[in-house]
Parts: sequence; C-alpha cells; structure tokens
Amino acid sequence: MAGATAVTGAGRGYDVVVVGARVAGSATAMLLARMGHRVLLVDRMGFPSDTMSSHFIPFYGAARLERWGLLDRLLATGCPPVARLTSDWGQVRLTGRPPAYQGTRVGVCPRRYVLDKLLIDAAVESGVEFEERFLVTELLGDGDRVTGVRGRTSSGARVTVPASFVVGADGMRSLVARTVGAEEYNTVPPLTVTYYTYFENLNLDDLLIHWRPGRCVPAIPTHDGLAVVLCGSPHAEWRELRKDVEGGYFAAIERDVPEFAERLRDARRVERFSGTHHVPNFFRKPFGPGWALVGDAGYHKDPVTALGMSDAFRDAEYLAAALHEALEGARPADEALAEYEVRRNRDAEPLYKYTLEQARYQPLDRLTARVLKALEDNEEDRDQFFGILAGSVLPEEFSALDNIVRILTRAGLMPT
Ligand SMILES: Cc1cc2nc3c(=O)[nH]c(=O)nc-3n(C[C@H](O)[C@H](O)[C@H](O)COP(=O)(O)OP(=O)(O)OC[C@H]3O[C@@H](n4cnc5c(N)ncnc54)[C@H](O)[C@@H]3O)c2cc1C
Repeated sequence: MAGATAVTGAGRGYDVVVVGARVAGSATAMLLARMGHRVLLVDRMGFPSDTMSSHFIPFYGAARLERWGLLDRLLATGCPPVARLTSDWGQVRLTGRPPAYQGTRVGVCPRRYVLDKLLIDAAVESGVEFEERFLVTELLGDGDRVTGVRGRTSSGARVTVPASFVVGADGMRSLVARTVGAEEYNTVPPLTVTYYTYFENLNLDDLLIHWRPGRCVPAIPTHDGLAVVLCGSPHAEWRELRKDVEGGYFAAIERDVPEFAERLRDARRVERFSGTHHVPNFFRKPFGPGWALVGDAGYHKDPVTALGMSDAFRDAEYLAAALHEALEGARPADEALAEYEVRRNRDAEPLYKYTLEQARYQPLDRLTARVLKALEDNEEDRDQFFGILAGSVLPEEFSALDNIVRILTRAGLMPT
C-alpha cells in the first residue's frame, strides 16, 4: 500500500501510531496488531533501504525472531546462520559454540535492507497499516497529553492522525523524545568511532572478532557470500580518521592485526565505507501521557556488543505488552508503562555496563589473560564464555568470583 493511500484510518484515529518502521517500530507495530489493535506505522524513508548499521543479531535477538515466526523466513533469504564465535586477542585465540538462548542456537547478520523490509511485511500481514515516505513533523497534544501526529505523506499532503498512543521508534535523534522532553539518564559520551565495509572472498564461516588495545576488528558473514568487516577505534581518533577513512581503516588493521590485513588483501572490497563517531550512550524515560519510546529512541549505546537490534526486539515485546494492558483497560496506562521502563532497565543495565567496559578497548589485564588461557583446553567453559557474546550467559554470571576460581583451579592456573 506504500504511498498509495493517504492513511485510510486517519479520520477515525488509531489505537497506536508508531513513528519509525525499522527494527524497533515494525516489531512493536506487528506485536500490537497481533493483539488486535489498530496500528499505523509510518517512516519518512522508502523500503527496502539501508541504514547506518552493521547488523549482527546474537542468539538472544534471533530467539525473538524465531518466536515471532520470522527466523526461518530470514534464513530463507540466504542469510547465513552463525553458530560458532571466535575471539582473537593476539596472545590467545578462542572459538566456542555458545549455549542456546531460549532454545535458539544461531545468530544472524542480515543486511538491513532485507531485515527491515521483512519485519515491515510481517507487520502488514499482521494487520498494521503502513505508510512509507511519511514524515512526522509534529505531535498533537491536549495539555501535556500526546494525542496523535501531524505529518506529510509521499504526495505532499498534510495529514493529521489522532491516536490513543504515539510510539517513538524514530531512532536516537527521536523527534518524539525531543518534543515531549523525555528525560535522559545514565549518560556517557561517545567512546568509539567505527567504520565498516563489505568484502567478498573472505571465506568466513563464523563471527570473528579481533581485540587489541585501542582497537576492535569484527568480521561477520552476511547475505550474498559477503562479510561485513568493522574497525572500531577510540573516539579520540575520529578527527584524524575522518580525513582519510579508507587509509585510516586499512592502516589501523595493518598495524594492529597484520595477519587479518593479509586476508583482506586476498579478498575484494565491494562497497563503500560507512561509519560514525556519533554513538552516545544514554537511557531516556520511555513513557508519558499518550507517548512511549522504543529502540534507540529510548536507549542508545555503543555498537561494540552488537545489542542494538536485539534490545529493540526485547523492548518491543515489553512495550507491546504494556500498551495492550492500557488499551484493554486492564491497568492504568502510567502503571503499565512504568513497568515497561522497569523491565527494560532491569535487563539492559548489566549489559549497558558491560558494553561501556568493552567500548574502552582496554588491554587485557593479567587476571583476564589468565582466564582466557585457562579456557584454551576447557571447551565447556569456553562455550559458556562465548554465551556472553551470544546473549545466553550474563557477563556477571560468568565473571562471578567462584566461577573464575573454579575455571583457574581446573586449569592449574589459580594464583597462590
Ligand atoms: C556503526 C554501527 C554498527 C552497529 N552494529 C550493530 C550490530 O552489529 N548489531 C546490532 O544489533 N546493532 C548494531 N548497531 C545499532 C543498531 O543499528 C540500532 O540499535 C538499531 O538500528 C536501532 O533501531 P531502531 O528501529 O530503534 O532505530 P533506527 O534504525 O534508527 O530507525 C529509526 C527510523 O525512524 C525513522 N524516522 C525518524 N524520524 C522520523 C520522522 N520524523 N518521521 C518518520 N520517520 C522517522 C527513520 O527514517 C528510521 O527509519 C550499530 C550501530 C552503528 C552506528
């Protein structure tokens, strides 16, 4: 229907208007429609289209796609499953098969122009009305309550759409968050700058991450036999790097991971470079009268742990459940939405802390180096260790003192 109709239900209004139709917005809209609500999903972009993002989804995000009946559909587009993960710190290199997350034992790294369109299609199949190239220009209000949106359709028509709730799934620069003045907390300024591009003939079956002091170089297989290869650097290097992105990217990999630079020379780069230094870390209060935030609009962090999309899926489920209760009259909206914030933060805060630690690209400390060494001949615990990356093991679970002591003792590496 994209662009063909000018928001058929605008007169009657909707239960929910979702602004932004990528991972957070289309998932939230789909789940609400499946619960029987009238939902309008809009995005200023046309689809399929790409966006600034690499795109690994660990087991923990893939499990939600599976639960929604979409993982097989995504794999059928030629998206390779990723079940084995390798981390390379130079002095030690480990490979593992993480434990399943809620029964799912694969990750995926789909191109965004495939994934986002697949989610939009699933939302439309579930009964969502979708309008692409629809720019939301302002929110409607009644006192401090948000009552809908005003925007411009692809034909240039100005449309007013009343709704019981407006969901901002409109990314970290969210118009919805800005308009309502959503409070920001746990804020940490950007720590990294990341550039990425795509290679063919890299012959990569699994996810491979190189960790070096001040550098992170992940490579992940994606659609069309390509691999996305990222180079993350401390934020302080941004001004220098942006003068020559291609030169800086290859020079950093050559300097810090020369054996991988050799592999890249044998492969062929097939796309331009993308990247950004603008990766702030923050939570926003995700609700108020008549509005809610989901995805990057409500919670943004460094991409080093590749959790953005999986967190958006999780929060889509939590938010849809809360809005359902409010729309059904089962609970007052502020109570249901306050629980949404609590559930989001309970799950996100430990991983946020872990993400900020990883984004500092610190050299290995002596204890960590010793634990990694101990894991070389211990497949069971090595798989658990990789469960952190897959999202099936919590970082604090693995690094609990008794667990570390057990692993070191078993390897005969416990310091006296
Ligand atoms: C370099 C980099 C690498 C990354 N790598 C990974 C990774 O490997 N794995 C991972 O999970 N995450 C990764 N991320 C993070 C991930 O990209 C985000 O977490 C994710 O895209 C957030 O999705 P979203 O739906 O919340 O927002 P977005 O993807 O930002 O979508 C917001 C949508 O809202 C629309 N919109 C905005 N304003 C309006 C308006 N006024 N009217 C109408 N529409 C509007 C936009 O057009 C857009 O389509 C990476 C990010 C970066 C920068």
